[in-house]
Amino acid sequence: MKAQLLSRLRKVLPLTGETYELHVPSFRGREEDLVLDCIRTGWVSSVGKYVDQFEDRIREFTGVSGVVATSNGTSALAICLRLLNVGFGDEVLMPALTFVATANAASHVGAIPHFVDSSFGTLGVCPEKLRAHLKESTNFSQGQLVNKRTQRPIKALVAMHTFGHSVDIDGLIDVCEEYKLPLIEDAAESLGTSYKGKHTGNFGVLAALSFNGNKIITTGGGGAILSTNMEMAKHAKHLTTTAKLPHPWRFDHDEVGYNYRLPNLNAALGCAQMDLLPKFLKAKIRLAENYRMAFDDFSEATIFEAPENSKSNYWLNCLLLKHSDLKHREEVLTYLHENKIKARPAWTLMHHLPMFESCPRGDLTVSEDLERRLICLPSSPFLAL
Ligand SMILES: *Cc1c(COP(=O)(O)O)cnc(C)c1O
Repeated sequence: MKAQLLSRLRKVLPLTGETYELHVPSFRGREEDLVLDCIRTGWVSSVGKYVDQFEDRIREFTGVSGVVATSNGTSALAICLRLLNVGFGDEVLMPALTFVATANAASHVGAIPHFVDSSFGTLGVCPEKLRAHLKESTNFSQGQLVNKRTQRPIKALVAMHTFGHSVDIDGLIDVCEEYKLPLIEDAAESLGTSYKGKHTGNFGVLAALSFNGNKIITTGGGGAILSTNMEMAKHAKHLTTTAKLPHPWRFDHDEVGYNYRLPNLNAALGCAQMDLLPKFLKAKIRLAENYRMAFDDFSEATIFEAPENSKSNYWLNCLLLKHSDLKHREEVLTYLHENKIKARPAWTLMHHLPMFESCPRGDLTVSEDLERRLICLPSSPFLAL
């Protein structure tokens, strides 16, 4: 089975002896010129024209009116939670199948992650299971949704667009309205992904992007807070820039702020990468098609298909093994690594990590099945550029 799987992969990744990483950045545009411009002019740090330009580019591309660039995606998520007054002792609903940053961000504001299941169709939070879980385990007390078991308030839902595939947004919005939950989109992986014709990040009260080195475009490290609510966006800018009041010389600050801005140096890299994003997206779609053809009629594993309504960016392509068995998954991964294909499993589920194992959670059988079966494949855009 493993040899067959490898020979299928070789149709897409033909060079034997060559190492295929999971995802590496491509710098084929104005990157050097723009970064050098920062160094030559001295504008390398928290002030400079590229931060504004980068925010404008993201605004244009996503159609979300409020964009605030940040130091990374984790800090963007933490500020989204702060803006919704999520704090000490509050619970935040989120998928168990996510990158650790989603849960860390909740912890950073003093909140407790509350894990819910994903669906096979989207790999993101399943609206039906979420509704059933909330019906069974929560009630309203003085207008606030409360976890019956812990008696803690449940303040928000963070939904993540897994590997660049949109969650079932309409389904989740229905549940959020029913339970009066604000929705935050963890869109760290979904720059370039739209749902029913609108870019992800337009649906939640707030959303977070990441421009880490392994994402579809990179600023080295970086992120952004998105909001269609300009008051929120303004407050986001204020909080991420030490909450300083504008004045030509005085250092006045009106609340505890953060130094979470994106340096100009990183924003310059981001501007150059935004030029290339349309090209990357085309390459990603081509690469996904190549994988789909290579694994057509393969009985041991299938390529995950974009869900209905999601025009995906195909950030990471993934295989779903037929057999739901951790040992089998590890054997496949060992074999692929021996053959220099640096495939990766999905993340270890959040409730399997020591710091989150005692957090509240619903039934997670789909996530647990997916954890045993998912394998992410090399997906750098240059593989099909
Ligand atoms: C990358 C990522 C983040 C944010 O990561 P940073 O490295 O802090 O930019 C958050 N959530 C998910 C799902 C991610 O993949």
